Amino acid sequence: MDRIWQNFIDGRWKSAVGGGERDSLEPSTGLPWARIADSGPEDVDEAVRAARRSFDEGRWPRCSAAERAGVLRRIAAVLRDHGAELARTESRDNGKPIRETGALIPYLGSYYDYYADLIATLGGELVATDKPAMTAFKVHEPLGVVAAITPWNSPLYLLATKLAPALAAGNTVVIKPSEHASCSTLAFVERLAEIVPAGVVNVVTGDGIAAGAALVSHPGVDRVAFTGGVETGRRVVEGSARNLARLTLELGGKSAQLVFDDADLTSAVNGILAGTFAATGQSCVAGSRVYVQDGMHDRLLETLKERTRAVKVGDPLDPETEIGPLAVDGQVERLDAILGEAVAAGAELTHAEGDLPEAGWFYRPTVATNVPATARLNREELFGPVASVMRFGDEDDGVRLANDSRFGLAAGLWTTDGARVQRLTPRINAGIVWANTYRMASPSMPFGGRGDSGYGVEGGVEGFLSYTQMKTAWINASPDPMPDPFKMR
Ligand code: NAD
Repeated sequence: MDRIWQNFIDGRWKSAVGGGERDSLEPSTGLPWARIADSGPEDVDEAVRAARRSFDEGRWPRCSAAERAGVLRRIAAVLRDHGAELARTESRDNGKPIRETGALIPYLGSYYDYYADLIATLGGELVATDKPAMTAFKVHEPLGVVAAITPWNSPLYLLATKLAPALAAGNTVVIKPSEHASCSTLAFVERLAEIVPAGVVNVVTGDGIAAGAALVSHPGVDRVAFTGGVETGRRVVEGSARNLARLTLELGGKSAQLVFDDADLTSAVNGILAGTFAATGQSCVAGSRVYVQDGMHDRLLETLKERTRAVKVGDPLDPETEIGPLAVDGQVERLDAILGEAVAAGAELTHAEGDLPEAGWFYRPTVATNVPATARLNREELFGPVASVMRFGDEDDGVRLANDSRFGLAAGLWTTDGARVQRLTPRINAGIVWANTYRMASPSMPFGGRGDSGYGVEGGVEGFLSYTQMKTAWINASPDPMPDPFKMR
C-alpha cells in the first residue's frame, strides 16, 4: 500500500468522521495501491463550512487581483516543478499512459498562468446611460463557494479547468474527485498547502451518493462545476436546484469524424488514432464514429487496421506504452458485451495483435466495421479504445450521419478543401469542431458541449465569467438634493 490519504479541510488533513476508508485500485494490476477517506454528508458539511468561512470572513475574495495572480503563478510552478511525480501518481491511479500524463500535467500550469494574466488586466467598466449626473458601472464579483466534481479519466486536467478560474475570480472551493482516481488530486493539493490560505481549497473524497450528492445539494454551495456522465449530470441538476446553485455540466460524447476523399490520409489516420485511442479511448471527446467518404474508405480502413494491429498495449508507467489499462473495474466486461452485440448484428473486428498483460483491466484497441447505425457501439459512449468505421456518400450524407447522436460535444473534419470546412462547420451540431486536427485544447479557448453533452463552457474568458456574478452600481454625483418622489417635476 503506497499511502493512506485523508480529506483536506481548512488546511488540515482529517479522517472521515465515521473513520471510513476505501481502496483505490491500480488498473494495471487490479489491486489496491492506496486508501482514501470514504466521506459522507458530515465531512462534506465540514468542508463547505470551512470554504464558506474563508469566503465570508477570509482575505481571499478581498485581496487584490495582483495578490491572487501571484498565488495562481505559484500553483502553476507546482505543476511544472512536480509534474513528473504527479503524472506518475495519476498514471498509477487511473492507468493513463505516462507518455500522456507526463506531457499533460506540467502543461496544466498554463491554465493557472492564463487566469493570472486575465485578472491582471480585467477590470470593471463604466456604463454610459441616459441619466445625467449619474456614474454607472459594472463589476464582476466572485460567487462564493464552488463545488468542483471531477471524473476519473483526467483528474488534474479537469480540475485545472475549474480550480484556476474559480480561484482567479476569488471563490473558495470544495473538490470531490472520483472515488476511482482521487490520489493525484490529493497529491497536488498537498503541494498547495503552503501556497493557498487555509479553507480556500478543500478536498473531500468518497463516492457519488454519500459525498457527491451531499456536496451539490449543500445550502452553503453557490456554484457547481461538474464533469461526468449524463445520468449523474441529471442528478446534479436536481441536487443543485435546491440551492439554485449556478451550474456547468461537461458530460459525455459520441463524437463523429468525417474523412473526405480529398483528405490527407496520414493526417486523418493519425487524427483517428488520437481521437479514439488516446487516453485508452476514455476521453469525453473520443471521435469514435468515423465516417469515410466512398473514394477514401478502403485506403483509410486498410491503413487504420495496419496501425491498430501494431499498437503497444502495456504498463502505463512504461514510456513506450501507447495504450494502458481501462481505469475502472467492470469496464472490460461492459465493452465485451457491447462489441458482442455488434458482432451478432454483423460487425467485423480488427484488434491490436501483441500479448496483453495477464493482470489488470487491459483491452485490445479495436477497429469495427459493418456496425449497424442502431448498435449500442454506435450510440453509447464507450469509454474504451474502439473505433467504428462507416461509409458516407456526399456532404449532406456526411453531415446527417455526424449529427445522428443525442450528444453534441465535438466533431472532426478531414479535408484539404478550406471552403468545405467553412461550409460544414455551422452545420455540425457540436460545441467543438476540429478541422484537420483533433483533441486540440488551450486555456484561452472555451470548451463545452450541447444536447446530452451538457451546457456551459470551461476555459477562456467565458469560463472565468461563469465563476462570477455581476454587480451594477449607480452613484449620484449631482449637487442637487434627491427630488421628492411624490411631487411632479
Ligand atoms: P460519473 O458521472 O460516474 O462520476 C463523475 C463524478 O461525479 C465522480 O466524482 C462521482 O463520484 C460523482 N458523482 C456520482 N454521482 C453523483 C451524484 N449523484 N451527485 C454528485 N456527484 C456524483 O462519471 P465517471 O464515470 O467518473 O466519468 C466518466 C464520464 O465523465 C463520462 O461520461 C465522460 O464522458 C465524462 N467526461 C466529460 C468530459 C467533458 O469535458 N465533457 C471530460 C471528461 C469526462
